[in-house]
Amino acid sequence: MATTSFLYHSMGVRGYRYIRCEYDGETIRHHVRLRKYRRRCRGCGARWHHLVLDGQFERVFVSLPIGKRRQEVVLHGQIQECRRCGRRLREPIPFADGGRRYLRAVAAYVVYLCDKATIKDVAEIVGLGWDSVKEIFKSHLRRKLRKRSLSHVRRIAVDEFAVRKGYHYLTVVLDLDSGQVLWSAEGRSADALLPFLDRLKRCRAPLQAVALDMWPAYTLAVKSVFPRVAIVYDPFHIVRLVNKAIDAAQRDLANQIPKAIRCRRGLRFVLLRARENLDLKGASLLTDLMKINRPLYKAYLLKEQLRALWDFPSAILARRFLDQWIHQAKATGLKAFHQLAKTLDIHREAILAWYEHHISTGPLEGLNNKIKTLKRQAYGFRDMEYFQLRLAFIHSAIPRFPG
Ligand SMILES: [Zn+2]
Repeated sequence: MATTSFLYHSMGVRGYRYIRCEYDGETIRHHVRLRKYRRRCRGCGARWHHLVLDGQFERVFVSLPIGKRRQEVVLHGQIQECRRCGRRLREPIPFADGGRRYLRAVAAYVVYLCDKATIKDVAEIVGLGWDSVKEIFKSHLRRKLRKRSLSHVRRIAVDEFAVRKGYHYLTVVLDLDSGQVLWSAEGRSADALLPFLDRLKRCRAPLQAVALDMWPAYTLAVKSVFPRVAIVYDPFHIVRLVNKAIDAAQRDLANQIPKAIRCRRGLRFVLLRARENLDLKGASLLTDLMKINRPLYKAYLLKEQLRALWDFPSAILARRFLDQWIHQAKATGLKAFHQLAKTLDIHREAILAWYEHHISTGPLEGLNNKIKTLKRQAYGFRDMEYFQLRLAFIHSAIPRFPG
């Protein structure tokens, strides 16, 4: 038989008298009653000598299991009439959170286990329902997230992820210094980002720079809340734009290029490749292209050159290069390149800001695989809040089995 101090040290049940223990198959039941001098009024906090006991109730709480055996705490509670506030209430139950049918100690154990096993496993181990386990873990993550301070945030990256097939996006903000996901919200409009930026401002975070793709909604949002903070356009996304431009140019010029060249193992494939990755066939196709269609060949060279934009020793040299590049891109006479040149011209400062801050959305791209794993573990996006909470702590998550 257990003792009062065992109750306290193993289950956090303090101030109770141990009445008896019951063994019923796989379940061990500890019957307890609150000590007289520990009584307090649940309404006004008046001490025991103000209270008159007026009726009983019994409640059963799930406690920590011992091996495979389930333990329960059976509370023999009293209804108390308070002479100070005049109310008639049940005694307060300090070892369980309001209305819950498990001990606080169980909740703490669940949180500990959820870091190591799936919700389904944890539910089976502690003998609670799947929903209860998930709710315990969720409220733990919620509390932890609320405590997280933003007052040190200096550099962030923002990007969107496609979370479902079709056009369903999640905007995600990463702290580039700590690696933490600071924010996620559904959608990719300014509204998905503004609440976070407002919070950041209220915390007086010393924000210096934000890495973005070229999605205008994010840029507008950042500029509206932090007009002085540097916006850095991600190099990878700009390279992707030039790839898109050459693809469009190739399509526009299709009728000017002889079929023989177009079909020879994919002109498109060759144009999108980096030169150093081309095999002999690809290289010879390029040589042919040089003779047949000068503008497209020029465009290919420009595409190849643009990657050098981030290799200069200084921003001044990079700026000079970018100016030349823009000039040449316009001179190709290709619609797609003219358009791209205009875009880069407009965003020149944000592109070159990379030289001062050296940040990109790259670390966010790296999250992609982790998000996929999480999607399996967090049961898809059926419970978006749970998914987002897990995402907020993904930097510290240990890889787990899906389930
Ligand atoms: Zn009272």
